[in-house]
Amino acid sequence: MITETIKKFVGRLFAPAARGPLRIGRDKHGIDRRNVSRHAIKVCEVLRQHGYEAYIVGGAVRDLIVGLEPKDFDVATNATPEQIRPLFRRARIIGRRFQLVHVVFGQEIIETSTFRAPASDDQETDEHGRILRDNVFGSHEEDAARRDFTMNALYYDPHNEEVIDFHDGVADLKKRQIRIIGDPAKRYREDPVRMLRAVRFAAKLNGTIDPATRQPIRTMANLIENVPASRLFDEMLKLLTCGHAMDCLRQLRADGLHNGLLPLLDVVLEQPGGENFVELALERTDARVRAGKTISPSFLFAALLWQQVDVRWKQLRAQGEHTIPALSQAADSVLDEQTEKLAIQRRFSSDMREIWFMQPRFERRMGKTIFRMIEQPRFRAACDFLQLRAAAGEFDSVLAQWWMDLANADDATRADMIEALGRQPRDPAEAPAPAARKRRPRRRPSSRGAGGSADSAE
Ligand code: ATP
Ligand code: MG
Repeated sequence: MITETIKKFVGRLFAPAARGPLRIGRDKHGIDRRNVSRHAIKVCEVLRQHGYEAYIVGGAVRDLIVGLEPKDFDVATNATPEQIRPLFRRARIIGRRFQLVHVVFGQEIIETSTFRAPASDDQETDEHGRILRDNVFGSHEEDAARRDFTMNALYYDPHNEEVIDFHDGVADLKKRQIRIIGDPAKRYREDPVRMLRAVRFAAKLNGTIDPATRQPIRTMANLIENVPASRLFDEMLKLLTCGHAMDCLRQLRADGLHNGLLPLLDVVLEQPGGENFVELALERTDARVRAGKTISPSFLFAALLWQQVDVRWKQLRAQGEHTIPALSQAADSVLDEQTEKLAIQRRFSSDMREIWFMQPRFERRMGKTIFRMIEQPRFRAACDFLQLRAAAGEFDSVLAQWWMDLANADDATRADMIEALGRQPRDPAEAPAPAARKRRPRRRPSSRGAGGSADSAE
């Protein structure tokens, strides 16, 4: 008991907060108020007018300081959800175990949460130390301490335009250094996803992980296995769509965070012949993200897993299975395997299937079936996917372009294009020069699905 008290006392003496947080003015942090969501400012103002403290916090402050456009804005306050909700016309309390408030302004939602306390020893954890409940209100200082990295624990006060910094986060951020708050091993045990987040932020900011923060990752990487699959999926998606996906994956591999933990990453990083396709897919994704365009998760995962599907598809056909059932079985087995670790949600996996199943149908152009294909909801995505395969050299690029032109055309032009096909002498295999270059002699005669794609993809 006495030792506990002494420990606490000494802890307080040395805690950064003993000297109080840094209050950093606009000239030093450089946030331009015009880049801050006016709705987030509004939430802070209203709370302040009612006597509460309220700040913009987390990723938005980090991104604003380094000149990136924040994805969304979160607010932290000392008001409780019940105190927050009545202050806004459209606000709802969400969450069961830790409640927070969504304040809604048209399309924008400002997530407003009450200061929370960091993990304590009496908190419920699983047998590996992962925190299962995180639901204790706390002080402002405690709220900073429970956040993951110093650069994510910054509070922007729109009223005086100061950034409140309990953990030297602004200095770390300016150095592009990812530093965890507290004891790294303890923080990873509480939540292993923080290891993945460290890698993602390093790639996104083109920064480095501080040595002490990095050091335990290698040995603790296997804790990722205990993280629920749906949470891993969300984190993977963030990782793949942060605009620096390839850098992230390389780093994950270097840190041993991919091995056997996420089968998807094993596939992506270790399958021979897969790199080209996957790299192309990720480069395109990165380019889209950086240009501010949207990303379809189904398309992305369809691309990442395609090589694996393709290999199994080929194996099954070599065993005598017909094209379409073989593709269906290949898709099922790959998806089943992935879903064990990474909960690819059903709506994504059904879209992925549609994108894959359309691929053999692009190999032959026949009037009637083309009209049916165009009507499929995923036609556009499947056609984009075909372009990727053409860029990777596994599908004839002229034929792929024809399909793209068709996808982009209006109805009348489409009809003309399809009609013009009927006038051309038909190439029996329909897959002209470049794909033919790679085609090997058939093992057995087949009457179905002459396969530029399947036969040429190595
Ligand atoms: P981005 O939205 O760009 O992925 P972010 O930092 O905003 O980055 P969010 O997941 O939106 O990430 O979380 C918001 C804030 O909540 C973070 O900035 C951090 O302060 C805190 N946070 C998020 N995840 C964790 C975690 N696993 N452990 C501790 N704090 C976290
Ligand atoms: Mg965020």
